[in-house]
Amino acid sequence: MSSILMKSTLKLGQRTLSLRRNIASLSALSETHQMLQKTCRDFADSELTPNASKFDQQHLFPASQIKQMGELGLMAVSVPEEYNGTGLDYLAYAIAMEEISRGCASAGVIMSVNNSLYLGPIMGFGNDQQKKSFVAPYTSGDKIGCFALSEPGNGSDAGAASTTAVAKGDYYLLNGTKMWITNGYEAESAVVFATTDKSLKHRGISAFIVPKNTKGFSLGKKEDKLGIRGSSTCQLIFEDCEIPKENLLGEPGLGFKIAMQTLDAGRIGIASQALGIAQASLECAVDYANKRVAFGKPISKLASIQEKIANMALSVESARLLTWRAAWLKDNKKPYTKEAAMAKLSASESATFCSHQAIQVLGGMGYVSDMPAERHYRDARITEIYEGTSEIQRLVIAGSVFKEFSS
Ligand SMILES: Cc1cc2nc3c(=O)[nH]c(=O)nc-3n(C[C@H](O)[C@H](O)[C@H](O)COP(=O)(O)OP(=O)(O)OC[C@H]3O[C@@H](n4cnc5c(N)ncnc54)[C@H](O)[C@@H]3O)c2cc1C
Repeated sequence: MSSILMKSTLKLGQRTLSLRRNIASLSALSETHQMLQKTCRDFADSELTPNASKFDQQHLFPASQIKQMGELGLMAVSVPEEYNGTGLDYLAYAIAMEEISRGCASAGVIMSVNNSLYLGPIMGFGNDQQKKSFVAPYTSGDKIGCFALSEPGNGSDAGAASTTAVAKGDYYLLNGTKMWITNGYEAESAVVFATTDKSLKHRGISAFIVPKNTKGFSLGKKEDKLGIRGSSTCQLIFEDCEIPKENLLGEPGLGFKIAMQTLDAGRIGIASQALGIAQASLECAVDYANKRVAFGKPISKLASIQEKIANMALSVESARLLTWRAAWLKDNKKPYTKEAAMAKLSASESATFCSHQAIQVLGGMGYVSDMPAERHYRDARITEIYEGTSEIQRLVIAGSVFKEFSS
């Protein structure tokens, strides 16, 4: 049995009220999913929410919390137990990601990158030896990984990679710069995309596993960001970096397919991160509206405040249904590219909307860092940008819809 389930069983008695509330609103979830949700919610309430402001203000990587998340099984939720993972499904991952991000969106993205963007492609395309060396040690929170696709010259246009990998005997020589790499500063290993044959354009891109200690691999500029400031974002620089051929992921030229499939799954994780931010914003607004008195009564009695709360709740719950549907489709081995894009688009716009509305409900208190609303507002914004901007999600959705109508 996974560590999450054992911990959940032990903790079940402690917070019966909140568990009952969760079960009432989420009765469609299995008992395992409900226990996981409660465990993650308890952990977020005790370890993440009280520290999230400190991580944000001091740009502090939440090292001990990530270690604890590893112990709970959250750093490799869907990796089979054979490779030290928790062996749960993707719906479980989505549920856990939401609860963790509700407590701290930085911890959420660190978890998401390790689970979906680093472990995901190695589990999907790696051989047994690669899984033993580069998956199993990255499941406990001791080591984390990252995913390096974007470059200074290309983000949305991922097929235009200018980083090169030239085959030389039993190794590849990697040269180029990757930009915006989440976890880049702390990661012990990276999945890196580079072109092995420029004439083939995106079909000439290959994927490599590159450990941090490889000669010629260094870290570049660390970004100073608007939000998710507890997670690092930096450049990875490769100068005549020698990658053993056994670190090639899949076949030469398979890199673009690996990247796109990884991002399909990753978008469910980012949708869940966005849901966590949206839910935290809603809870913050409801709590404040119940307590704040204006014109002799709590502002929760005002119709304009109630309308905001209703619109926020509607947007979070509809985005959650889309997100869980995408996860369910993935778990049931059905196509889910369009649904993952819909989930990410809907949840990220919900996070932006709800965090904006929460500030309005809080008035002046929404604008200062004494309350979490302004952090949620800053954290929400990135969910509309990384793992495909909202414009790219709409392209993916429209492409799928036109295809469905023409077949
Ligand atoms: C904090 C942070 C963390 C990140 N983490 C990672 C990471 O771990 N690994 C990684 O590889 N990358 C990462 N990224 C990069 C991220 O995925 C890219 O920033 C994103 O894909 C957008 O690319 P871009 O910034 O180059 O913008 P551009 O592609 O230059 O886009 C600029 C604008 O043009 C629009 N646009 C571009 N093409 C089209 C089109 N065809 N149709 C309509 N509109 C279009 C975009 O939507 C956007 O509004 C991260 C970025 C940030 C800011």
